[in-house]
Amino acid sequence: MKPVRIGAIHYHIERDDMTLGRSENQHLSGLIDYERGQICIADCLSPSAALVVFLHEVLHGVLYSAGIREHDETQLDVLSNGLSMFLQDNWQIIMGYLHEVERHSRLSTAEAAESL
Ligand SMILES: [Zn+2]
Repeated sequence: MKPVRIGAIHYHIERDDMTLGRSENQHLSGLIDYERGQICIADCLSPSAALVVFLHEVLHGVLYSAGIREHDETQLDVLSNGLSMFLQDNWQIIMGYLHEVERHSRLSTAEAAESL
């Protein structure tokens, strides 16, 4: 899987059973390691659950990149669930915006190159 960039940090994404060093009653679906640039998602999750966990970890990364070190897990759960539903329900509209952003970015780069 391609790495994702959040702020200045590139994160490699891994799927793992996430049981290493944990007892049976400890449950962990995902984690982000800011120093190693790694996001790990439990490989037992369904695609829709993995998306929620991935977004949860990405939101940790967004807050970290803004210098915020204390994160409210409940708020991140609410946001990652809501964002996951929004993305799944509206992906075509979002893709339209992304294409426009990409097109505008390419035009701006070409205009900047012409002005040199
Ligand atoms: Zn968390």
